[in-house]
Amino acid sequence: MLFTANGYKLAIVLKSGTSQESVTEKEAMILSQFQTVGRDLFTRGLVSSHSGNLSIRLGERIIITRRGCQLGCLDEHDLIETGISKNDRNTPLASIELPVHRAIYQATPALAIIHAHPPHAVALSLTETEIVPNDAEGLAIVSRVPVVGWHMKVKLGGMVNIVAQALKQSRIVMVHGHGSFAIGQLLEEAHNCTTTLEESCQVTCLLKSLRVTSATK
Ligand SMILES: [Zn+2]
Repeated sequence: MLFTANGYKLAIVLKSGTSQESVTEKEAMILSQFQTVGRDLFTRGLVSSHSGNLSIRLGERIIITRRGCQLGCLDEHDLIETGISKNDRNTPLASIELPVHRAIYQATPALAIIHAHPPHAVALSLTETEIVPNDAEGLAIVSRVPVVGWHMKVKLGGMVNIVAQALKQSRIVMVHGHGSFAIGQLLEEAHNCTTTLEESCQVTCLLKSLRVTSATK
């Protein structure tokens, strides 16, 4: 079973009639999905040791990574369940980006969200107002990626509504000088958008460096 950081049992909301055995299986499956995605984001360098956050929506509840946790080595204590629109005793334990995750779930049909700090995408977010991939896969999967937060003070947990509104039109957005927010029906979909965007931005940065080299000859 999963437990929140202060020892309360995490009560996953399931449809009525689900057996106790399948509840345990579902909890284990959810933890496994968070661990797989969190570990991959960390090993790819898309989050630092303590940055980034993941969540999924279960009805009017949200399961989100714990404030200050390490995505590279999540355990059952790092998954916090709280309300999408209501606070409870677990709310203070949730990621500092909880307000953004809540606003995204309220504004879009998303069932999963990933916030990461992909370095090449963050670099381009400091020079572009929109990121358009040069490679075919990037164009197919993430298309045009808005960069929000220009001329605004970027702070943790900030720009809640701007990010949520931008995700009505796009599967992934960049916050200027900060990081990405990707949505999907599954964590895997949001993960695919995040890694694809970073790969596209790496290609764009390589192209820009080649052009600089060429121009100086
Ligand atoms: Zn961040």
